[in-house]
Amino acid sequence: MLLFRICNRYAMRYYLLRREDLPRYVDFLMKLGFRVIAPKVEGGALVYGYLSKGEEFVDAVPTFFAKPFMGKESIFDLNSSSLPPTIYFTRSCEAAGVGMLDDVRLKGPFVDAIYMKKRKSIKLANLACTRSCSPKAFCGSLQGPRLESGFSMQLTDVGGDYFVELNDDELPAADFMRPAGAELLGKAREAVRGVLSEQAKVSLDYELKWNDAIWNELAGKCIECGACTLACPTCFCYSVDYRDWSRQEDSCLWAGFTRMAGGNPRQSLEARLKQRFYHKLEYHRDRYGYILCTGCGRCTMACPVDIDIRSIMTRFSRVSGSD
Ligand code: SF4
Ligand code: SF4
Repeated sequence: MLLFRICNRYAMRYYLLRREDLPRYVDFLMKLGFRVIAPKVEGGALVYGYLSKGEEFVDAVPTFFAKPFMGKESIFDLNSSSLPPTIYFTRSCEAAGVGMLDDVRLKGPFVDAIYMKKRKSIKLANLACTRSCSPKAFCGSLQGPRLESGFSMQLTDVGGDYFVELNDDELPAADFMRPAGAELLGKAREAVRGVLSEQAKVSLDYELKWNDAIWNELAGKCIECGACTLACPTCFCYSVDYRDWSRQEDSCLWAGFTRMAGGNPRQSLEARLKQRFYHKLEYHRDRYGYILCTGCGRCTMACPVDIDIRSIMTRFSRVSGSD
């Protein structure tokens, strides 16, 4: 996978952090001036949000990932000052998703200056998963539950302690963390192996068929709620509101998406569903060399009618006996 790297390469440093000291470390980073976004409970719901103290950190995975560009934003941002530095606690599926967004929005041929400004302020702190978050997840068939690169910090639970990989000179260790050696990398890789055995393997060897009956079947089930696209860490489409020159995330499944003078060129829901899956599973792969999916399973978790991206890949699999 070719991921655009927004950060420089640094010498990796290794530490051990006691599990119970993670909130303390978050407080330590906040005292240094970092804002921290992480899973927290807000209004009774598990969401991503800014922490006001380390104790708010919840070691769980919210269904909706707050992408770095979500919410309404002005398309004429004339303020050139940089944004406050922010540490974003992610899971591997989310950090890999941000890497894919970087490829699309920063790598060219056009650079998204608004996204670039936000992204430059964000450091990814990845929390490796040592068990599968859901039976609908299949990250093990893609980038896996922990990353080898693409983060400023990564934490892996190696049995009571987090093995901490610091890959950013601007992120210091606290004095209550113990220096560790690279030999623990093997233990960290071993710690996430259970995730791979918990998940059914999904074959990436498939070829979608344009005239297959499944597209019509899916259109008969889908209620066009857009939850799948909003939950997905890799969907990046937005619409522009020319009344106030702002933009906001949009869903390719909505009839109002890409509305032009002559209306939406994809009039039927079947055509819009087909576009969603062809874009993720074929067009993006043709252009970037990897599919626009990290196997997080969120689209399937969020879908009220159980439309499952794995069933599309399996239906068109070229591997006999694939399930
Ligand atoms: S398409 Fe579904 S499984 Fe893939 S990254 Fe998006 S939400 Fe996750
Ligand atoms: S979540 Fe399911 S029902 Fe809603 S738009 Fe996506 S596929 Fe359709």
